[in-house]
Amino acid sequence: MVQWIRTRRPVRASRAALIVVASLLPSAAQAQNIQAMPRVRSGETMIAQLIGDAHAASVTFRGLVAAIDATNGIVYVESGQCRHRARACLVHSIQVAGPHRILRVIVNTRRDREGLTGAIGHELQHAMEVLSEPGITTSQGMFFRLFGMSMGITGQLESKEAVEVGIQIENEMRTTTRAGVRITPPTIRVPR
Ligand SMILES: [Zn+2]
Repeated sequence: MVQWIRTRRPVRASRAALIVVASLLPSAAQAQNIQAMPRVRSGETMIAQLIGDAHAASVTFRGLVAAIDATNGIVYVESGQCRHRARACLVHSIQVAGPHRILRVIVNTRRDREGLTGAIGHELQHAMEVLSEPGITTSQGMFFRLFGMSMGITGQLESKEAVEVGIQIENEMRTTTRAGVRITPPTIRVPR
């Protein structure tokens, strides 16, 4: 969050200080949220903070994370590029590690934070579609589950639930931002 400030053109010192302080204040609470929901994780600070923000701001996102927490799944969210220029994707591979089933979500972070959060929520819904079936432990099983959930009209593995959840979360994030609940940068820029 602070890194983002550094990448911008200099602003008046007092305003910059205000933004930095305002941005730092929710971080402690976010850190607690992140610790409280270890089954949805990111090794990247920006995404981990975004997950913490979404957990605080979106009731739908919170419900989704609670549902995943009730499974034996762990979902890692990482920045990157998906095939076919998709804005986000659930990697069609499942890894079994001891009692855990591990999934990966990839998101293109070059977009506004509300849209990005909606995209993460969309993919977490797909993750939940897999994790809600305890017997799915192979990539093949994962494929058939997602195929079974699919709307079947676009030729892609897409579910009505994931589309709706993504839109709902994005709307809830935008409502929170408009209400001025917290000061957030308009666009997230990830140094590459
Ligand atoms: Zn989808």
